[in-house]
Amino acid sequence: MKKRNVDLVCDIAELISLAEEGQARKELLQKVVISVAGHMHADVCSIYIYEEESKKLTLRATQGLDPAAIGTVSLSLGEGITGRAVRELRPICVGTASKSSSYRFFPGIHEEDYEAFLAVPILRGLRRIGALVVQAGEANYFTPNDVKALRAIAAQLATMIENVQLLSEAREEASATAAALPSMKKVVTESIIRGRSASTGTARGRANTLDSVNKEACILPDPDAIPHTAEDFDKAVEKTADQINSLQLQMSEDLADVAVLIFSAHLLILEDEQFTGRISNLIQTGTEAVKAIATVVNEYVDVFSKSKMPLIREKVLDVKDLGNRLTRNLLNEESDTCDYRGQIIIAHELLPSDILKLSAENVEGFIVSSGVTSHNAIISRSLGIPMVAISREQADSIPDDEEMLMDAEQGIIYLQPGDEVYAKYRELDSAWKVLHDASDMKEKTLTKCGERVQIYANINLLSDLKPAREFKVEGVGLYRSEFPFIVRNDFPTEEEQYVIYKKLVDQMDGRMVTFRTLDIGGDKMLSYYSNVNEANPFLGMRAIRFSLQNKDIFIQQLRAFLRAGADADTRIMFPLVSSVDDFVEARDIVYDCMQKLDSEGISYNPKTKLGVMMELPSAVEVVDELAMEADFLSIGSNDLIQYMLAVDRTNEMVSKLYLAHHPAILRAINRIVAAGLMHKKDVSICGDLSADPRMLPFLLGVGLKKFSIDSVNAPTVQRLVNSMDIAEAERIANCMLDFGRISEVEAFLADQNLASEIEA
Ligand code: PEP
Ligand code: MG
Repeated sequence: MKKRNVDLVCDIAELISLAEEGQARKELLQKVVISVAGHMHADVCSIYIYEEESKKLTLRATQGLDPAAIGTVSLSLGEGITGRAVRELRPICVGTASKSSSYRFFPGIHEEDYEAFLAVPILRGLRRIGALVVQAGEANYFTPNDVKALRAIAAQLATMIENVQLLSEAREEASATAAALPSMKKVVTESIIRGRSASTGTARGRANTLDSVNKEACILPDPDAIPHTAEDFDKAVEKTADQINSLQLQMSEDLADVAVLIFSAHLLILEDEQFTGRISNLIQTGTEAVKAIATVVNEYVDVFSKSKMPLIREKVLDVKDLGNRLTRNLLNEESDTCDYRGQIIIAHELLPSDILKLSAENVEGFIVSSGVTSHNAIISRSLGIPMVAISREQADSIPDDEEMLMDAEQGIIYLQPGDEVYAKYRELDSAWKVLHDASDMKEKTLTKCGERVQIYANINLLSDLKPAREFKVEGVGLYRSEFPFIVRNDFPTEEEQYVIYKKLVDQMDGRMVTFRTLDIGGDKMLSYYSNVNEANPFLGMRAIRFSLQNKDIFIQQLRAFLRAGADADTRIMFPLVSSVDDFVEARDIVYDCMQKLDSEGISYNPKTKLGVMMELPSAVEVVDELAMEADFLSIGSNDLIQYMLAVDRTNEMVSKLYLAHHPAILRAINRIVAAGLMHKKDVSICGDLSADPRMLPFLLGVGLKKFSIDSVNAPTVQRLVNSMDIAEAERIANCMLDFGRISEVEAFLADQNLASEIEA
């Protein structure tokens, strides 16, 4: 029989669709071997699955060998051609198996009839999942092309097999958490993908892959549709401009600090003769209007996406969005079909401005596959939009329009979830609401023994202020000032900044506000500030280093902070301070600004307190001197953990090493608090650690009394504080400080079972 060209006939889509049918693993694998054997005209196709614990490969499906061997034949790693392929993580193709020294013959399963042998490992990165094996009677039957095809199939299989495995793990986990939360025992889903949580909440919707290579940037014309005229197109342009203007207006009300220019690119492109004029010309010369829009939009997408300038590349999403709006308006579709309601966006890369835009257009959730930058995670949390990070392969395995439910708390994505999954998630959502209910929040937070603790809010966008007030926070412990910078096309002026900061101060009604100076660099980049490419941006020109290097920009921000603080209780703190010298240099610039404002007769807050964010090991070493110089210290635990442990906070590969309970972190926090107490300086904590229920007793125990957190966590933190006794917290902290090993701290925390006390 003539062998077909496997590169063409190996219908991988068919394999994926088998997985989508939600088959149990056994049936799924059996269908796969039948399909592969059929396409390749191989006499045998088998799948072995690798068990990490036993280090054995077991035959799990076969077409061509004796079915009774399934589950009974197993190989050690390195045993036979299959075992070698898996051990050596490479395909092995043998022309005459009987002559190969690695050949391992199993009697009774009819292998002896086959000479050609091709074994391809099924891998997930470097992780062994199993092997895909084909055999044929004719010697030298398999070609290099066959190897290529089988490798492609093995790559697809890896995702499928892993998903099916994860599903059973998820079921086990669900029953383990059943005691703490409403029962999930009966959760059954078709397929799940596990990623990393980057924001909170749950979302349901259909997949919309933004940068899918196979997808046209714009809707294609329906051949049966009634043709549209140039006049129809002009009307669509008008309607589109109205829609965008009202979106912009709405954003300016809801998100005054970051709304500026968010939709300006849309409007500029829409007004551009090259764009709309060219579409009109195409229509007038006989091209159907929908096709004309698609043609021009695709040309723009092509040009923009190839640009070397990040500012131009950023416009790809805008032009695609614009194209779809124009088309839908031309077709007179309902206006709300122009937005992203009911859709979960899957994107390789997202910019904070994309997140803002899509949120204004009602997107339900985000799935990103290029890792999550801190700013994207922070902005999604502030906007209340769930976000999960997954790998590129996982993202590619999600078909467009797939129905999904994403649990961003756990980083889990359910594909085609059944009714039971929806029902259980509704229960979880209500449980979440109860946990975060602000209605019984008290103005003051006291421990069981009556000690006063203060809960402040971390504010990223002005829109965070409303929930902050609802949650009765005592002030702002951290205002991340970079978002108004990130969404613009240039540095905002002193005046523009002043307007934003003043709103913040006014809305806090006399409560303390802590401004943090610009913290860019690392993974928080400004697209319009193209500094030289740094090999190690996290160790480069970021945060206070950037400000000290770019004094004009720094001075404008400081003046805006000082002015906004007139007659209010405000503080300014500097991120990523690495020495007393950094702090003193920054403080001197503040003093210069105060003098200048005095001489100009402009009012400001002369009592503004100046503080240091404790984020670097070097700062911990000189914390005594810093505490002497500064008015206050604020522990930025997100970066402190990153830099003390040398673990990139955005890198999934090392996320297991990012441990807040590492003994070095515990001791560093203790040292910082002790220095603050000794020098009678205020110490607070504003990283994510400050709302971690497992760690709160430790933090209280070392003497921390000021916590700056995302306000949504305020009820949980207040309840926990109410249930704690300081003497008991001190006992816990002292025990934890004694441990030298991570494992000892973990065992201790498990024993304390502190988390469950909070849920009670
Ligand atoms: C921190 O590092 O803990 C912090 C609060 O700052 P950011 O998360 O903005 O870096
Ligand atoms: Mg930080």
